[in-house]
Amino acid sequence: MIEYESLANSNAQFMAELEAAASRVIRGGWYVLGQEVAAFEHEFAQFVGARHCIGVANGLDALILSLEALDLPKGSDVLVASNTYIATILAIIRAGHRPVLVEPELATFNMDAALLGSAMTSNTRAICVTHLFGKTCRMDAIGAFAAEHGLRVIEDCAQSHGARLGAQMTGTFGDAGCFSFYPTKNLGAVGDAGAIVTNDDALADRLRHLRNYGSKQKYVNRYVGVNSRLDELQAALLRVKLPHLEAMTLHKRALAEIYFANLPNQVALPRQRADEYDVFHIFGIRHPQRDALRQYLLDHGVKTEVHYPIPPHRQEAMHGILLGEFPLADALHNTELSLPISVGHTAGDVAHVCEVIAGFMHAND
Ligand SMILES: *Cc1c(COP(=O)(O)O)cnc(C)c1O
Repeated sequence: MIEYESLANSNAQFMAELEAAASRVIRGGWYVLGQEVAAFEHEFAQFVGARHCIGVANGLDALILSLEALDLPKGSDVLVASNTYIATILAIIRAGHRPVLVEPELATFNMDAALLGSAMTSNTRAICVTHLFGKTCRMDAIGAFAAEHGLRVIEDCAQSHGARLGAQMTGTFGDAGCFSFYPTKNLGAVGDAGAIVTNDDALADRLRHLRNYGSKQKYVNRYVGVNSRLDELQAALLRVKLPHLEAMTLHKRALAEIYFANLPNQVALPRQRADEYDVFHIFGIRHPQRDALRQYLLDHGVKTEVHYPIPPHRQEAMHGILLGEFPLADALHNTELSLPISVGHTAGDVAHVCEVIAGFMHAND
């Protein structure tokens, strides 16, 4: 059986170092917001090419706190992709704003910059972009639109650690870049963790307060903050894996090359562009008989995933909030299939997946 992903496999190559780091923290006796967090913040900021990194408890909080720190008028409209993971939309609502959905491009799964103009209202103050599946959004076009209309930009980088447009990493195009280190992400902790990167000194200072009860100095509270701190244990474990992130990305990119070269032409592949450095958090193909193809793969020993089975506007939680028709989001959610592409998979695994898919096409010709 080829699993979609086994986290124990993905972390196996780091096990001795992870155990040593965990032991160091436990024996050290300092568990929340200490030198491991400070060191990780420094190292991750350097990796991304940003001036500041603020560790937080998870990716959703990174998004909520970044939106709050912008201090937009309550109830502002925030543009967001109609097919993003629900967390991006929850963050906008939790920060007191109104999500306004923009449809994606089918070939990239990412927000279509050409549709921003028609989604704008007089109440629009920000764009929250998601670099979905590890592919950068077109920040050239989106950034130009935001500048023209005076909009703030928050990047959801939960799936795009190390992804680049040209030489620039995702997370550094907007006002803030929000990362999740949930265990399955390209840089994954052993539990929940997140971070925000920014080049804005004032925003960074506000975020350092907000994550810790609105306080940077013990028992002195400047803002109405929350408890969303990154703990020392997760920071120490992330420091073990960060130096290997680019190697892990190269492994995933090599697996993607095998898919691009060997998948039969009946499946729709993600569009590749020369100036985009895709980190393939997810390798998402499209096929009209997605469910039959998925069952066939399972019958032949290959586990896959669907990202995501239900689009945000069809979720019960969004009744009365996300109004309107979103046919492109529906089309993606009905046809997307995520193929195995983890650091624990081999070239042979992926070549086998391609053969099984070719077998399905043969049987259904
Ligand atoms: C995982 C994810 C999040 C949320 O991150 P958590 O750490 O699970 O809170 C937000 N946005 C996207 C696109 C994600 O994939």
